[in-house]
Formats: sequence, C-alpha cells, structure tokens
Amino acid sequence: MMNCLFCKIIRKENPADIIFENAETIIFKDINPKARIHLLITPKKHIPSIKEVEDVDRELLGSLILLARDMAKKENLRGYKLLFNVGQEGGQIIDHVHLHLTGN
Ligand code: 5GP
Ligand code: ZN
Repeated sequence: MMNCLFCKIIRKENPADIIFENAETIIFKDINPKARIHLLITPKKHIPSIKEVEDVDRELLGSLILLARDMAKKENLRGYKLLFNVGQEGGQIIDHVHLHLTGN
C-alpha cells in the first residue's frame, strides 16, 4: 500500500488529473490514453485485483459501474467500454483495482 502508485495518487503524494472524488472512490485520467476519453475509476480501498475482492466489497464494486455510467453521460459518450484487467496474465500492470472507461 505504501508503494502502490494508485494509493499515492489517492493520498495526493503523486500528481494525477483527478476529475471526480468522493469518500470511497477517485476518478482520474489515464496517463497513456487508449481513446479520446480514458478514465480510471478507482476505489480508495487498496484491493490488489478482482481476484481479491470479497462480499463486503459488493456495494463498492457496483458503485464503480454507476459512476462509469455517470461519467460517460457527462462526457456525452454514446457508447463506451468498461474493462477490468485481472492479474499479470490478464494485462494488469497496477496492482490496485481500477475500472477502465474508454470511449471516443
Ligand atoms: P492496468 O493494465 O493495470 O489495468 O492499467 C493501468 C493503467 O494505468 C494503464 O492504462 C496506464 O496507462 C495507467 N497508468 C500507469 N501509471 C499511471 C500514473 O502514474 N498515472 C495515471 N494517471 N495513469 C497511470
Ligand atoms: Zn493501492
């Protein structure tokens, strides 16, 4: 957690283009966008990957999708993709759960 890049963004120790924040979640722009809009919808709780989520995280995970919907609407995206990379073999680079929202 101390050295987790996204925890550092959450603690404001590392800079990021933060576009939304509440008590449980932070949303910031991906540093290397794969689409015109590329946001990382990130719970503040340090969970390494979807493999480690637990029943208590049910509501938190659901809220990520609702926030993605709201952000996409705000950005006037008619269609978009939502993606979790899971595990190194699944393309996950940052070991802190985040939902990718991409759209053009
Ligand atoms: P993953 O492959 O783990 O699902 O995705 C990690 C994403 O985080 C990548 O799309 C990458 O571009 C982005 N990323 C990596 N380091 C940083 C950073 O320091 N700041 C921001 N805003 N995004 C980052
Ligand atoms: Zn973390």
